[in-house]
Amino acid sequence: MIKTDILIIGAGPTGLFTVFEAGLLKLKCHLIDALPQAGGQCTELYPKKPIYDIPAYPEILAGDLTMKLLEQCKQFEPGFTLGERAETIEKQEDGSFIVTTNKGTQHQAPVVAIAGGLGSFEPRKPLIHNIADFEDKGVEYMIKDPEFYRDKKVVIAGGGDSALDWSIFLSDIASEVTLIHRRNEFRGHLDSVDKVQELKNLGKINLITPAEVTGIVGDGAVKAVVVSQAKHIEKEFELECDHFIPLFGLSPKLGPIANWGLEIEKNAIKVNNALDYQTNIPGIFAIGDVNIYPGKLKLILCGFHEATLMCQAAYQIMNPGKRYVLKYTTVAGVDGFDGTRK
Ligand code: FAD
Repeated sequence: MIKTDILIIGAGPTGLFTVFEAGLLKLKCHLIDALPQAGGQCTELYPKKPIYDIPAYPEILAGDLTMKLLEQCKQFEPGFTLGERAETIEKQEDGSFIVTTNKGTQHQAPVVAIAGGLGSFEPRKPLIHNIADFEDKGVEYMIKDPEFYRDKKVVIAGGGDSALDWSIFLSDIASEVTLIHRRNEFRGHLDSVDKVQELKNLGKINLITPAEVTGIVGDGAVKAVVVSQAKHIEKEFELECDHFIPLFGLSPKLGPIANWGLEIEKNAIKVNNALDYQTNIPGIFAIGDVNIYPGKLKLILCGFHEATLMCQAAYQIMNPGKRYVLKYTTVAGVDGFDGTRK
C-alpha cells in the first residue's frame, strides 16, 4: 500500500504543479498516470508545439514545459505509479481513500486530487477476437521499458510515429523486429520512414506492407501472429514472435472515474469553484481540464491556479484548525520583510 498526503490522478501539467504547491505546504504527493510518462497532453499529443501563454515564457515547447515542471517539483520527491489507470476508489472509516489501479496497485491518502484532463488515454486496439487473452502475456499497447524486449522477437503494427520510432529503437535491442502496416505509405515523419527503409535494407527490420495482423497464436503467451497480406487474403501466414505491440494511437476517455459517484456534466467533474475546487465528495478535488464550472477555460495556466487553491484546502483537511500563514517562496534581499503576505 502506497501512502501519501495528496494522491494525484493524472501527471499532466496540472498534476505536476500540484506537487510543487503541496510541497510548499509540506504535503507529500504521489501521482498515478495511465501513460508511461509524465506530461499529459503536452507530452502525448504535442511535445514539439510551442506554447505562448505560459506566464514569463514568451514561447516554450510543450515537451520542455513538462521537463521544467518535473524539475520544479523534484525537490519535493513525489512518487509515481506510471502506466497504470486509477480504477476504483473506496472511502475508509478514518475518512481516507484507497485508490486501486487496473494493475492492482493500491494507494491510500486523506485527499485525492483528480487532475485527469481529458481522461485516461486508452490505446486503440486492433480487432482481433482473442487479443484480450494475451494482454500482458506478450501483447503490449505501449512500451514502458525497451530493455524488456532485449533479445526477443518483436512484431510492431502501425503506421504513425510511435510505430516507426519504436521499430528503429528496438532494432538495436530485440533479436528480430518486424513492422507491419496496412498501407504502403506511413503517416510518420519522412525522416523516420527513410530510416526504417535503411534498416530494412540492412536486414535489421523486417517490413511487411500492406498487411494486417488478424490473429494471435499461443498457449498462455504469444507464440506467433497471423499476418494477412491485404488484397491477398489467401496469403495468410504465421509469424513466430515473443511480443506483439500494436501502436495505433491513444484516445482519451473519462473512464472509470465516471463511476466514482462524482457529479458529472458534459463529461467533466463539477466542482465548487467559489472555494477550493472540491467535488460533491468531500476530500476529492478535481483540477485542470477534467473539471467544469461556470466560465471554465481549458488552459494550462487555469490548471496551475486551481492546483494552488486546492492545496490550501488540502492543508486544512490534513491540519484541521491549524492556521496557515501564506508566505512567498523567497524573500531574500527584501529588508524588514519576513515573507508573510498580509
Ligand atoms: P492532461 O494534460 O490531459 O493530463 C491528464 C493526465 O491524466 C493524462 O496523462 C491521463 O493519462 C491521466 N489520467 C486521466 N484519467 C486517469 C486515470 N483514471 N488513471 C490514471 N491516469 C489518468 N493549453 C494552453 O494553455 N496553451 C496552449 O497553447 C495549448 N495548446 C494545446 C494544443 C493542443 C493540440 C491540445 C490538444 C491542447 C492544448 N492546450 C493548450 C490545452 C492543454 O494541453 C490542457 O489544458 C492541459 O494539458 C491540461 O492539463 P491537465 O494536467 O489538466 O490534463
